[in-house]
Amino acid sequence: MSRPAGEPVTDQSVPVRPRAAPAWAELAAAGRPFVLCDGVLAMFTRRWGGVSEGPFATFNLSGGVPDDPAAVAENRARLLAAIGPGPSRVAWMRQVHGSAVAYVSGGRANGPGDSPEVDAIFTGSAEVALGSMAADCVPVLVADPLTRLIGAAHAGRAGMASGVVPALLAAMSDAGAAPSRMHAIVGPSICGGCYEVPSWLQQEVAAVVPGSACRTRAGTTGLDLRAGVRGQLARSGLERVTEDQRCTAESGELFSYRRDGQTGRFAGVIWLAR
Ligand SMILES: [Zn+2]
Repeated sequence: MSRPAGEPVTDQSVPVRPRAAPAWAELAAAGRPFVLCDGVLAMFTRRWGGVSEGPFATFNLSGGVPDDPAAVAENRARLLAAIGPGPSRVAWMRQVHGSAVAYVSGGRANGPGDSPEVDAIFTGSAEVALGSMAADCVPVLVADPLTRLIGAAHAGRAGMASGVVPALLAAMSDAGAAPSRMHAIVGPSICGGCYEVPSWLQQEVAAVVPGSACRTRAGTTGLDLRAGVRGQLARSGLERVTEDQRCTAESGELFSYRRDGQTGRFAGVIWLAR
């Protein structure tokens, strides 16, 4: 993938941008639930509406940052109330930027240690919502309305490069879902215009995720995570893709690690309507 210095990055493998869908986009921007497809609801939380303080103010959902655990518990309770009635809990992951996938059953979790150490989960239960936390990485939510299987992935640079999204679709397909029937939403994340990476890293990622290389607005080497994920979805046979085009680094409504360093995590959440 080496290219001479100064040669522009071509974007011929970048898929066509999805059409805007104002009805869901307006609800998503307001931090409210929206219909992803028949019988499936989703939402993206915002930075505001919780009780955390300082750099985690206010709606931090992550227990993996040094926020007050009581505040995180209250924020998670508020999230569950916001998506109710329906799921009795939200399943989270201990996200490690890998490509492992776990099935989540509808039963009650026993405690915080129940979160699997994976970056993608799926379920067929309406008892449990699936959450993917992010603060620049891409939360990806998918659903097969026929088999009523839903999935959530956390695809940052490393997870995207290791193929967590195709791995999720493969696991769901093994369980009976079909990408040709599935719907996906690629959630808010840092945009290609903001996400500068060193040239070697751009080339390393673009070698395994075609279409992810871009130029930043500053003219430097960058990565477009959402374009990369869209390409992975398309190559897996999933064509019904919508995209939340908000950039975490540019929106004060969302947490951004690149912008703020120590900060909280918002979440993409998906669940089955009863
Ligand atoms: Zn941006």
